[in-house]
Amino acid sequence: MRGTGGAEPSAKRTERHDVGAERHILILGGTTEARRLAGELDALPGLRVTTSLAGRVAQPRLPAGEVRIGGFGGPEGLARWLREQQVDALIDATHPFAGTISFNAAEAAAEVHVPLLAVRRPGWVAGPGDDWHDVGSLDEAAEALPALGERVFLTTGRMGLAAFAHLGRLWFLVRSVDAPEPPAPPRMEVVLDRGPFTVEAERELIRRHRIDVLVTKDSGAAATAAKLTAAREAGIPVVVVRRPPTPEGVPTAADPAEAREWLDRQFRNA
Ligand code: NAP
Repeated sequence: MRGTGGAEPSAKRTERHDVGAERHILILGGTTEARRLAGELDALPGLRVTTSLAGRVAQPRLPAGEVRIGGFGGPEGLARWLREQQVDALIDATHPFAGTISFNAAEAAAEVHVPLLAVRRPGWVAGPGDDWHDVGSLDEAAEALPALGERVFLTTGRMGLAAFAHLGRLWFLVRSVDAPEPPAPPRMEVVLDRGPFTVEAERELIRRHRIDVLVTKDSGAAATAAKLTAAREAGIPVVVVRRPPTPEGVPTAADPAEAREWLDRQFRNA
């Protein structure tokens, strides 16, 4: 980590580049895209890149550039940080299910007049042979489960396990990066792991644990899509939790390449 609180400007700051000079970019991170984008931008001269992480994961994969960890204290705190650290552009590259921070970013950016971009990877789309059941929340997923199977592969993360805690008749294979805490389902096995995952490994997990239903958020990430292929092959249903709403009027990019184009346009027009 090259510093917390975004205090240490890198030596590259004084160089110039056509994307811009002496520009400070804040990336709201916690995703593969955010890490990739930070790496790409940090390699450019004339940019100071800070990534902000919420601090949920005990040993996060750190991106290139500066890193700060922990909440800002709501939209007001984020606005203050943007002002004090003289941020020139804000990129919300958080997970599609991180609903609160995206609204905070929209509010803070509007208040301090900092251009904001949201990086939103496209959601997953069912194909031939898929048996997907769309739901709007973890609670709805829990409601749908008893009719679909008895041995559940739960890949929605360690937060929110409480929604499944009352399902004592079902058995759960819970996969998360860090160990979950109660409340959690009484009959469960935890596998601590983080993507990317291969189809072979997902196929083997489903076979070995005799999984008959999969639960996932619609994260849309390539790194975690293999379970969907493995579920289709095994002929088991998938409960897909659809994404929460995002703030209106915020321009979006589908990937880091599009985000770089947006940044280029911002600074060329500035
Ligand atoms: P959330 O519900 O949208 O945010 C809750 C609070 O956490 C925010 O109000 C903010 O606190 C703080 N926060 C969130 N992201 C932050 C960031 N990048 N930097 C600094 N503070 C942040 O978010 P969440 O669902 O708890 O997710 C937390 C982080 O984990 C996100 O950065 C996200 O990219 C990552 N992640 C989430 C999921 C998921 O399924 N939700 C999956 C993978 C990764 P203050 O109000 O105090 O600023």
